[in-house]
Amino acid sequence: MTRLGFLIDQDTCIGCHACTVACKSEHEVPLGVNRTWVKYIEKGTFPDARRLFSVMRCNHCDDAPCMTICPTGALFRRDDGIVDFDTASCIGCKSCMNACPYDALYMDPEEHTAQKCNFCAHRVDVGLEPSCVVVCPTQSIITGDLDDPESRIATMIARNGVRVRAPEQGTRPKLFYKGADEASLDPHQTVIADDGMLWAETTRDHPTLPAGTARDDVTARTAYTTAHPMPWRGMVTAYLVTKAIAAGALMVAALLVLLGHADVRAAVGLLPPVVAGAFTFATGVLLVADLKQPTRFLYILTRPNWSSWLTRGAVILSACAAVEAAWFVAGLADADSAIRALAGAGLVVGAATAGYTAFLFGQCEGRDLWQTRLLLPILLAQAAVAGASTFLVADLFLAVPSPDALRWVLLAGVGATAALTATEVVSRSTPQADLAVQAMTRGPYATRFWLGGVVLGHVVAAALAAVTLSGGPAPTAASAIAGLAAVAGLAAFEDAFVRAGQSIPLS
Ligand code: SF4
Repeated sequence: MTRLGFLIDQDTCIGCHACTVACKSEHEVPLGVNRTWVKYIEKGTFPDARRLFSVMRCNHCDDAPCMTICPTGALFRRDDGIVDFDTASCIGCKSCMNACPYDALYMDPEEHTAQKCNFCAHRVDVGLEPSCVVVCPTQSIITGDLDDPESRIATMIARNGVRVRAPEQGTRPKLFYKGADEASLDPHQTVIADDGMLWAETTRDHPTLPAGTARDDVTARTAYTTAHPMPWRGMVTAYLVTKAIAAGALMVAALLVLLGHADVRAAVGLLPPVVAGAFTFATGVLLVADLKQPTRFLYILTRPNWSSWLTRGAVILSACAAVEAAWFVAGLADADSAIRALAGAGLVVGAATAGYTAFLFGQCEGRDLWQTRLLLPILLAQAAVAGASTFLVADLFLAVPSPDALRWVLLAGVGATAALTATEVVSRSTPQADLAVQAMTRGPYATRFWLGGVVLGHVVAAALAAVTLSGGPAPTAASAIAGLAAVAGLAAFEDAFVRAGQSIPLS
């Protein structure tokens, strides 16, 4: 077995971009995206300033998170260690872009699938070197079998101090750098140059870190690099909210059954499956609509990669829909005993539906903000809030049993999300997560976080719920407003969390 890898000799690289152009030509890479590129940073201050180059691309990781998260196995490892890509299997979910800690993947604007460096596997298969290796005028790109101690690459790695990018991510990259300055490889040691000077251009999609969020010890700036797009946006925010409502409606309905209300036909027999079913359907529609290849969505089930929480999530959502359908039939038939039997299943699939996203986000190794053990309890508490809110709004139109119990669920859920989120915000442990928290609480997403998530979703919702519980006026209307505020605040918070997590450059 061979284990192919790259060594970039930064001591000899002259930053000519020939490798970028050769790759563009070999793979017909469209404008605006790159399989490989030469990043420029500038270090020092005039006149003691210098420009440093580093060649960026897929690291063909031994422990590749892109392969784990890909729901269809479009990313796979060959016997020679190359992490290759099957365009025909890609559904364009963009999860690999969030999993890769190196910004190595992009969405091809013509193919509408992900793409990345594949080591020129078609050339390797016929005994040729990758095109970037052939074209490099200074022989600064070296390839070979990392496991062969006689190979040039293994010898050079053994004899020289080499670095890899983001070793703390544990991906075991097979792209090594000789003579690279640490600031070239760690984007958190530079700020983005955006003064438009000649030969200094960062692309439109590469965000400048929010004011005040650069590290104190930054002495260099990135002058040229590739795009850092944000793969998941409003559709994913909406998916989180619709999924929370669907899951929460089932979970809270199970609670009402537990409280002895299985015989309330409209509010317990029919409302939960109708509401949860509608929002589960909306969740599925949002997931499919966010795909770059929506007509291939069934590949998740016909070409499944069972290590991916996207695949597992699709199965969980299907199970959720099945329970909702059975509950609806039982509700129509006034079958109290069947509803009682389904309550347990509703609780389980509701919790699974709410919670699986914690594991999906956990597979996004490139987004440190999302790598928190608190995400699972947060999602469960959010679902409880969304479920209770749904019933409190429905109470305006039909008599929902035990409204005080629902208000307590809302209040407790809001309290739990507040405590868990506050703990999450103050306990970040990596530089990238710290920057993302700052982007969320002090940067471009601060309004959503504070006004939407904190004030509307927590302060207003909790105050109204507390007032109704203490015998305040118009409890039904006030509770409904509390529920609407809680769900609106949830949407604002999720949007800040989703976007801030993706806002920190990785290359
Ligand atoms: Fe390449 Fe990124 Fe996948 Fe590693 S995680 S193999 S760098 S695409």
